[in-house]
Amino acid sequence: MLNIVLFGAPGSGKGTQSARLIDRYGLYHISTGELLRDHIKRGTELGKTADSYISKGQLIPDQLMIDILDDVLDKEASGKKGVVFDGFPRTIPQAEALKNLLQKRGTDLHAVVGLEVPEDELVNRMIARGKETGRADDNIDTIKNRLDVYHKQTLPLRDYYNKEGKYLGINGSGVVDEIFDEIASKLANIIENN
Ligand code: AMP
Repeated sequence: MLNIVLFGAPGSGKGTQSARLIDRYGLYHISTGELLRDHIKRGTELGKTADSYISKGQLIPDQLMIDILDDVLDKEASGKKGVVFDGFPRTIPQAEALKNLLQKRGTDLHAVVGLEVPEDELVNRMIARGKETGRADDNIDTIKNRLDVYHKQTLPLRDYYNKEGKYLGINGSGVVDEIFDEIASKLANIIENN
């Protein structure tokens, strides 16, 4: 299996670049944000719980998120060529859990692609996306909380994966195709060897 984490702040383009990665390399896409939004839309119990965190720009509790991912890996990702994790992990305990979940399945995490985008551009992109899609947490107050949470809880993962030699920093500003070309060229060796 080839397992890649797409890492970055909210609004950094993880969803857009994930779509390209899965197309190019035939991988399975797991977006924890999309998964939770789907539960909210369907009005499930999990959706109600998730909504109470998402609407405030907070992360849902680690163990809940990890259990959901464990389940998705069993039910949907097994037998696939590999997975693009989009929006997971977002905390150190989630990163530790991902390591264990993959090891348990006889595989490993191969690379963490980090989309690096200046903060003012992130805010502008999320505001534009909110207007286009009506996504409820793309409003200025929630955006501020999400960026705050990102800095405090998620950004430490950059060092964590740097130390493991897995972090590939990408300039995430500019033209979507050019950003993807940079990702593809940085992943070329890893893809060849897996
Ligand atoms: P995203 O679509 O990835 O920006 O996620 C939207 C929201 O879903 C986040 O602001 C969190 O509230 C929640 N969420 C998504 N992924 C995770 C995760 N790995 N851990 C905790 N909460 C998450």
